[in-house]
Amino acid sequence: MEIISVKPRGYCQGVVRAIMIARETAAKHPDEKVTMLGMIVHNRFVVEECRKMGIRFVEDPKKSRLELLDEIDEGVVIFTAHGVSDAVRAKAEEKGLTVVDATCPDVISTHTIVRDHSKHGDVIYIGKQNHPESEGTVGLSPRVHLITKKEDIDTLGELHDILITNQTTLSLIDTQEIIDACLQRWPDAAVAREICNATRIRQEAVMNLQDTDLLIVVGDPRSNNSNQLRQIGLKAGIPETCLIESVLDLNEDMIRNKNRIAVTSGSSTPNSLTRQVISFLEEYAAGGKFNLPEEVISSVL
Ligand code: SF4
Repeated sequence: MEIISVKPRGYCQGVVRAIMIARETAAKHPDEKVTMLGMIVHNRFVVEECRKMGIRFVEDPKKSRLELLDEIDEGVVIFTAHGVSDAVRAKAEEKGLTVVDATCPDVISTHTIVRDHSKHGDVIYIGKQNHPESEGTVGLSPRVHLITKKEDIDTLGELHDILITNQTTLSLIDTQEIIDACLQRWPDAAVAREICNATRIRQEAVMNLQDTDLLIVVGDPRSNNSNQLRQIGLKAGIPETCLIESVLDLNEDMIRNKNRIAVTSGSSTPNSLTRQVISFLEEYAAGGKFNLPEEVISSVL
């Protein structure tokens, strides 16, 4: 059995930066309430570590960022790497909160493109429904129209001076298919491909895997980019893929009789969690027994 440690994988620069900002903010405001608007990243281990630093989270998948702000009345609010709309920013300031912005520079760059274009034209934004990043971008202007799949194109009315763009963490393959379908209806539309570099090179590393029997993606079930890596693996012809949160989700049936197992992780997954999975599999491949550890490693940041 061969274990392939896929590279690059794991934390992207935007997530590292957001964690650093959260840590510095908690240290700088020891006597104030510090609240994160939503989950810092979609990974429960990272969220737990931030709670230990004294950071509170307001999160409800059924509520928008604007609604969640109603639950913060004092202290410091941290915007996550996913970014927020101008309305959220204005409401936080009106409430007198101290705003700390951990929006990823790649998301800010998409916001700039969308904001500029929507001053004179319509923007078709390919993204996920109810995802904080798409909520923030769509909220920049009423001229931004969210679509999640090719079929949504038929629901769009008459648009002018169109720009097609997308959420940063989508699948390269699926996004290109939707862009192509949009261009069939609007051949003169401009296109700004905004899948971020971190997402792109992690997906390409999976697409380039050869002769792999199983792809294990370490990541939270709610992590968009972790789920995308799994889908990319299937599309690249890997017969079996699975998404696990940590080494504790492995079972022997999953890996028995596999010749080549590749392991990767989403950009919100702590590298220490992935290294624990790889070490376990390497020991098993070297003839070790399938004895899972009692728990994941204690510190994951
Ligand atoms: S996945 Fe990309 S856009 Fe999202 S935080 Fe990381 S670098 Fe930024």
